Parts: sequence; structure tokens; C-alpha cells
Amino acid sequence: AIPVLTIDGPSGSGKGTISRVVAGRLGWHYLDSGALYRAVGVAAGWADLDLDDAGALVRCAFDTGIGFRDDAAGELRVLVNGHDATDELRTETAGAAASAIAAIPEVRSALKERQRAFRKAPGLVADGRDMGTVIFPDAAFKVFLTASAEERAERRYKQLKDKGVSVTLDGLLREILARDARDASRAVAPLRPAEDAVRIDTTGQGIDSVVERVLALVPG
Ligand code: C5P
Repeated sequence: AIPVLTIDGPSGSGKGTISRVVAGRLGWHYLDSGALYRAVGVAAGWADLDLDDAGALVRCAFDTGIGFRDDAAGELRVLVNGHDATDELRTETAGAAASAIAAIPEVRSALKERQRAFRKAPGLVADGRDMGTVIFPDAAFKVFLTASAEERAERRYKQLKDKGVSVTLDGLLREILARDARDASRAVAPLRPAEDAVRIDTTGQGIDSVVERVLALVPG
């Protein structure tokens, strides 16, 4: 079987950055599953869909064209129905829409096969919340990344400040704690580590050391 390395964890755990670097080092494909949920959320917004209309959202999940490509600077760009929506996908509005539609079971099933289609030779690094538990339960390598809420708030704070967005550390911490509680307690696909996942706490650790620990799990 084509090898899969799943990297799950809460937002701000560093899984996006770590997953991309690890995929690059292994020369494997990369799936940013959160971007799929965000893309459907954004497409639903463009189409003015009601976030309570599960039927319409499921059709949207099947019909929305979602593509990934690297730009000249090596940054991952996301195309939604052919439009580069990378910047829009990163907004809090898109995150909130993603989190709302991700709670609908039929939307999750609609995206299941689309996610599994990313499994291509020579291998896949899949980044998300339920990669090791639901989408690729048979993955050979599973990682669950954590970090303290304070550190995750600080990372997010730095990212937003670099982009010129004005936020407070305190407000971000509250948002992160609220999102954690919601993601862990929802009935559908609650955030939890796969039983066979290796847990890595990234609090106080640099990207390089986490990357090395993850790579050490995959026999060269
Ligand atoms: O990882 P990211 O912040 O881009 O994900 C956005 C939202 O999409 C998350 O808050 C979560 O509710 C949802 N999501 C999910 N399952 C995934 C990836 C993301 O439910 N595999």
C-alpha cells in the first residue's frame, strides 16, 4: 500500500508547517484537509448558501472545484472553482465557516473520497483533525501534535501581527480555548488522537526539532 503519514492536532499546534516541511523532505504529496473544509465554507459564502441548509452544503462539498498548486516562491496556493482563494481561506471568517460546516456528518462524508484521492505514490503526508482516526485509519505512521494553549495563541498572534492584523493575545487565547472546547466536544469527529498515534508536544520546540522527531518515525 502507498504509505501515509497522518499529522493531526488542534490549530496552532504547528501541524501545517511541520507537515509541509516533512512532505518536502520525504518527497511525498501533501494534503491540507483543513483547506478543503475552508474552501467549501468560502464557496458556500460566494453562493450565499445558508449555513443551516445541510443539503445545499453537501452539494457544495461535492461540486466545489478545489485545486492546489505551488507558486514561484514555493508557497501553496489554493484554487476554489478556479480562483486563487488562498488569502480568503486564511481569514477567521473562513475558519469559522469551515468549523460550522465540518460539524455536518454528510459534509464530512462528501469530502472523504476527495481526501483519500490524495494518496498517491510515493506517499502522502495528511494534515488535519481526523486523518489518523477516520480518513486514513490504516496509515503506517501517525502523529498527534499538541502545544499549550498559551503557546498556540502566541504563534497565531505573531502570524497575524506580521500580516498587520490588530488583535490582542488575550482575545486570541480565549478564541483558541473556545475552539478547542467546540472541536473536542462536537458529536461528529471530535478531535482526539488515534490510539496508535505518537504524541509530540511542540511547546517550546523549534520547527526543526519537531521535523526531525517526525521524520525519525519513517524508515528511510
Ligand atoms: O486546520 P484548519 O484550521 O484549516 O481547519 C479549519 C476547520 O476545519 C477546523 O476548525 C475544523 O473544525 C475543520 N476541520 C475538520 N477536519 C479536518 C480539518 C479541518 O473538521 N480534517
